[in-house]
Amino acid sequence: MLDQNEIELFRDNVKKFLENEVAPHYDQWEKAEKFPRELWNKLGEAGLLCVDVPEEYGGFGATFRLSAVIVEEASRAGFGALASNISVHSDIVAPYILHLGSEEQKQAWLPKMVTGEAVGAIGMTEPGAGSDLQGMKTRADKDGDGYKINGQKTFITNGQHCDVIVLATKTDPNAGSKGMSLFTVDCSLPGFSRGRNLEKMGHHAADTSELFFEDVAVGADQILGGEGKGFANLMNELPRERLILALGAVAACEGMIERTIEYTQERMAFGQSISKFQNTRYVLADLHAQVAVNKAFCSQCTDQYDRGELSTTNASIAKLTTTELQGVVADKCLQLHGGYGYMQEYAISRDYVDARIQRIYGGTSEIMKEIIARDILGR
Ligand SMILES: Cc1cc2nc3c(=O)[nH]c(=O)nc-3n(C[C@H](O)[C@H](O)[C@H](O)COP(=O)(O)OP(=O)(O)OC[C@H]3O[C@@H](n4cnc5c(N)ncnc54)[C@H](O)[C@@H]3O)c2cc1C
Repeated sequence: MLDQNEIELFRDNVKKFLENEVAPHYDQWEKAEKFPRELWNKLGEAGLLCVDVPEEYGGFGATFRLSAVIVEEASRAGFGALASNISVHSDIVAPYILHLGSEEQKQAWLPKMVTGEAVGAIGMTEPGAGSDLQGMKTRADKDGDGYKINGQKTFITNGQHCDVIVLATKTDPNAGSKGMSLFTVDCSLPGFSRGRNLEKMGHHAADTSELFFEDVAVGADQILGGEGKGFANLMNELPRERLILALGAVAACEGMIERTIEYTQERMAFGQSISKFQNTRYVLADLHAQVAVNKAFCSQCTDQYDRGELSTTNASIAKLTTTELQGVVADKCLQLHGGYGYMQEYAISRDYVDARIQRIYGGTSEIMKEIIARDILGR
């Protein structure tokens, strides 16, 4: 277990990587609507992927807290698209394979995901099934000793670059939640194809795609976590996905507030810096206070996760409150920038559009409220 000093040293390394390898190119990647594939290899070489994967699979065997530092710093720096791609790869796909995979599945994918040789994606959402995952239509039908997969996924982060997908399918369409199974699908298999890179309002540099499966033949050994156990396994793994989104949201808020403090101290109006107006001071003090409280709750949740005790409700509370707060912080900080905040040359304009997705993916705010309500009120 690393102590706080070691975590902060690691944080400095992440910041240096972002300054040297990301900041000079980020605007261009946003325009290109995709990172170069080599960025994954650079992240791997720098030791910034899947750091909590055990050493026997190439990782550092660190805790989730260390893995979160990478997403936090990318979010703080205003690189929301990068934070989202890394979190899917390192904090969602790798843990699914680590926690649910057979030894062969772990050996096949984890070492390559640590180095960036393989990029991971998670395929749950379909055109007709997002929040209501049980409505999915992608099927894996028994075929000899294996399965044939047919169907379509959409909005898949890392969809253009991915080499492996943790894919949610129906193996028994009549069995409700017990008919869902997860597979590790190798993207080089015949019958797999990528659709277009979807054009989004923000997170431009993150590739997000439709994916198609036409008679993709996979062995039974590619089932992840047992046939018919897909839904239960998704429910078990979702708290980490929600927590990493929450931690990214808090760091993004801190970054926006830091940049807005700097801006308001420099910008003059009516003969003084705008940071001297009572409104500016109270808005920033209020946001700072709300972020501090959310950060403390997320830190508690991180400790709970590292002890194997994070509840679905706490993860949902963290995701709901921090991502809603991120929207408020983005809006209020943009307002304090005046017209310059609406100009793309100021980071806050990108922060504002990037914040919007946080309340939707990983489970919408409404779904988070459903989960919390079920816990406190019953069904
Ligand atoms: C940029 C981006 C990246 C994404 N990355 C991935 C990815 O990598 N992998 C993946 O599988 N998916 C991904 N998604 C999909 C994302 O998780 C879904 O968009 C999200 O879960 C919502 O599903 P939906 O879009 O179908 O909306 P819907 O489920 O159709 O919801 C529409 C509205 O109805 C509300 N609603 C639905 N059900 C209820 C209910 N029971 N009670 C109250 N309100 C309800 C919702 O809250 C929402 O406001 C991504 C999406 C985006 C936009």
